[in-house]
Amino acid sequence: KQSEDKTKDKADRATSEQVLDQRTRMILLQMINRGFVSEVHGAISTGKEANVYGAVLVDDETGAPTHRAIKVYKTAILVFKDRERYITGEHRFKGGFDKGNNRKMVKLWAEKEYRNLRRIHTAGIPCPEPLALKLHVLVMGFLGDRKGWAYPRLRDAALQGDDIDDQWRKLYVQLLGLMRKMYQVCRLVHADLSEYNILYHNEQLYIIDVSQSVEPDHPRSLEFLRMDIKNVGDFFRRKGVDTLADRAIFNFITAASGATEEPAMAEAIEKLYESNVAAEDEDHAAQIEVDNEVFRNQYIPQTLEQVYDIEKDAAKVHMGQGQDLIYSNLLAEQVVKDKNGATEGGAEADASGSQDDSDDSSGD
Ligand code: ADP
Ligand code: MG
Repeated sequence: KQSEDKTKDKADRATSEQVLDQRTRMILLQMINRGFVSEVHGAISTGKEANVYGAVLVDDETGAPTHRAIKVYKTAILVFKDRERYITGEHRFKGGFDKGNNRKMVKLWAEKEYRNLRRIHTAGIPCPEPLALKLHVLVMGFLGDRKGWAYPRLRDAALQGDDIDDQWRKLYVQLLGLMRKMYQVCRLVHADLSEYNILYHNEQLYIIDVSQSVEPDHPRSLEFLRMDIKNVGDFFRRKGVDTLADRAIFNFITAASGATEEPAMAEAIEKLYESNVAAEDEDHAAQIEVDNEVFRNQYIPQTLEQVYDIEKDAAKVHMGQGQDLIYSNLLAEQVVKDKNGATEGGAEADASGSQDDSDDSSGD
């Protein structure tokens, strides 16, 4: 009984100031006992679906603090209504969606973020390192300075110097590369990418908030990708960057062949600029705007069954005339797949995801 009180005391102190339910506090205590953090501090962010808290792990011997971040998903109802569209069709979550069970859903959501983060982190894309997961609580590396100040969101980034235009353009090119790498190497579409879910520090972008990210075989992945591309373009245009057409970016990201590392990806993007898909003059800018509008309203088939006239389209792609087909890369990829005798839809994604799917990092 006494040690129970002590434990409770410790949990209270460690999570002081926080309005957290008992279950969450117990999980945080477990995180402390397992040595992931020593103290949980104030909220860095309070959102509709989750709160993010700052935390530190103090080194026993040196007393040196390591900052960490803890994302606590809210178990409240309603907020999660919108999430079905991401989960439905995710082969990694087959049978895992139970609208009637909130706690289970939130746990699933945290799990999804943890797995996606691990894939992204493993690929070497700058993002928080996922460290521990238990139910709806996720411990990750802290993106911020040594004093515990989190890096700003890209939206709030205050670039400095006399070459700010150039810096924004570089960040734009950097981000397109990260999106391609995420798609090709991690097999993920972020699906909520914007200046709000990217942190900025020292000319580097960091991808965060990936709980809703889906694999390419998700029935709506290309739609989500198209939306991400639009958000990114809108933001950088507001910053005065000469952006590429959405369609050109879509093709750049989904093209199976080509580099997935820098500086080769940035070079490929410069080639796209050279091939006149950017909007240097007013006429061309208007033309791109029209094409973007068409592109955004175009029907995106996700599977070959949905393609209207597959033979005609395949012939077009074969003749190098498939650029105007939104799914020309999809088609090319599928042709390669078929040649290799792979017929399972999710086979490819499974291969890259198997490493994290077997793991149960959620502890007991
Ligand atoms: P939400 O689902 O609420 O949008 P996010 O994952 O986007 O959650 O995180 C919300 C905010 O918390 C971010 O905008 C960022 O400022 C901060 N944040 C999240 N993760 C970290 C981290 N690992 N390090 C530092 N700050 C973080
Ligand atoms: Mg967010």
